[in-house]
Amino acid sequence: MATAQSKAGDIRRRGLMLVVSSPSGAGKTTLTRSLLNDPQEKDHLSLSISVTTRSRRPSEIDGVHYHFVSQRQFDVMRDAGDLLEWAQVHGNCYGTPREAVEKALEAGRDVLFDIDWQGTQQLYGAMRSDVVSVFVLPPTAEELRSRLERRAEDSDEVIRQRLHNAAAEIPHWDEYDYVLVNLDLDESFSRLRAILTAERLRRVQRPEMTRFVDGLLEDLKKITA
Ligand code: 5GP
Repeated sequence: MATAQSKAGDIRRRGLMLVVSSPSGAGKTTLTRSLLNDPQEKDHLSLSISVTTRSRRPSEIDGVHYHFVSQRQFDVMRDAGDLLEWAQVHGNCYGTPREAVEKALEAGRDVLFDIDWQGTQQLYGAMRSDVVSVFVLPPTAEELRSRLERRAEDSDEVIRQRLHNAAAEIPHWDEYDYVLVNLDLDESFSRLRAILTAERLRRVQRPEMTRFVDGLLEDLKKITA
């Protein structure tokens, strides 16, 4: 006979949307990639792959890091309502394709979003109860600049623009559920993991828990009768 305890592991929940934002260079991409590459997460967490009109960096792969599209293709998707949110960042358009996200959440899989504050606000408006948001801050302004320079994939002009944009992005830190100051990558990673673990246990994420608890109470009644 399946006891309430043995059934507990089977309780399905709706997936959550883990949104991570930060100014470029704060370490967000390293943190989110580490989470996605964690073998434990293989069947549980996937990245929402955005569409963007920005040109591809040499290290990027189309369909893996982004879907690189023309402005026309982007406009068609946006006008057809195929994007869950979209924004202009650093002069380029970025957006989240709707269908992949909705399917994953329905199937109980969590989705990770590497999007900016404008996109986060749109997701709050559309599906606040599904969203868990984390803002990553650099430890110092100097460190932010040297991380952007070390990346060396962008021109001096682009780096200057990104630093300028950081000053506009950072004031939005207090619109997020959690804030990480990324002084040490390992430490920040374990904190990000702790956030995800705790959020997965939230009652609202587990609608089928009611059925489990009813079964538990019924079993209890039998034992105590
Ligand atoms: P990058 O060009 O460095 O890959 O990304 C620039 C900024 O755009 C980052 O802050 C990133 O989080 C944001 N971004 C990437 N994809 C999306 C998206 O689909 N929607 C929104 N709103 N922002 C995005």
